[in-house]
Amino acid sequence: MLFRSHVTVGFCGAALVARFQPAWLTPSWPVEAGWAQLRPLIESGAPGLAGLVDGAVRLWSASGLAPLVETPIAYLLLVVVVGFGSLLPDIDHQSSRINRLFGTSRGLFGWLVHRFFRIFVGSHRTLTHYGATWLGLSLAVGYFLPLFWSPGAPYAVAFSIGYGLHIAADMLTERGVPVFGPFIKRRYTLVPDLLTFPTGSWREYATVLALVLFTLWAWGVWGWIAGWLP
Ligand SMILES: [Zn+2]
Repeated sequence: MLFRSHVTVGFCGAALVARFQPAWLTPSWPVEAGWAQLRPLIESGAPGLAGLVDGAVRLWSASGLAPLVETPIAYLLLVVVVGFGSLLPDIDHQSSRINRLFGTSRGLFGWLVHRFFRIFVGSHRTLTHYGATWLGLSLAVGYFLPLFWSPGAPYAVAFSIGYGLHIAADMLTERGVPVFGPFIKRRYTLVPDLLTFPTGSWREYATVLALVLFTLWAWGVWGWIAGWLP
């Protein structure tokens, strides 16, 4: 998908999570308390696993995006983080927007980055588009960000939403994504092949537009507009 589609999908996803935050995504759900009881048992057997679940629980219980958006600066930062997360997977593509944004596509540095990916990562849509990479990065960011910066947890969630939806959106395109890599090399799509589309096609735009309209509907924007009409 094109970078603007990815950013739009990321924003819509974050807006929908903030709007419909299900009960199991809020701290009031007893995930934290349940884990606190279970933790000593796991820690005695597998301390590494306990640390990993710590990260998962932190991410889970901090996913309240809604209270964050009360302050304008948090809003702005949230938008930046979602945008960054939704562009990051394409860092493996030399001419992608994120590489041009960071200047990692030009000059000696750009050449080095490109060589690095060619040698250690492989072609476009491999390592950075694996479901396991998304999970690992989400847990790492969810665990470490709040350690260094206490209000960081919801931003970790925003990053995870952006990154995860990038992979999901790429799975709507004809090329598919090896989402179970490196274990399974096959490229998967989210919908039957008949419904997939080439990157940059009018059907990509139509799909993103439908998502935008749905998000606006979910936030009741059509209702406001109807209210203004005479
Ligand atoms: Zn991609």
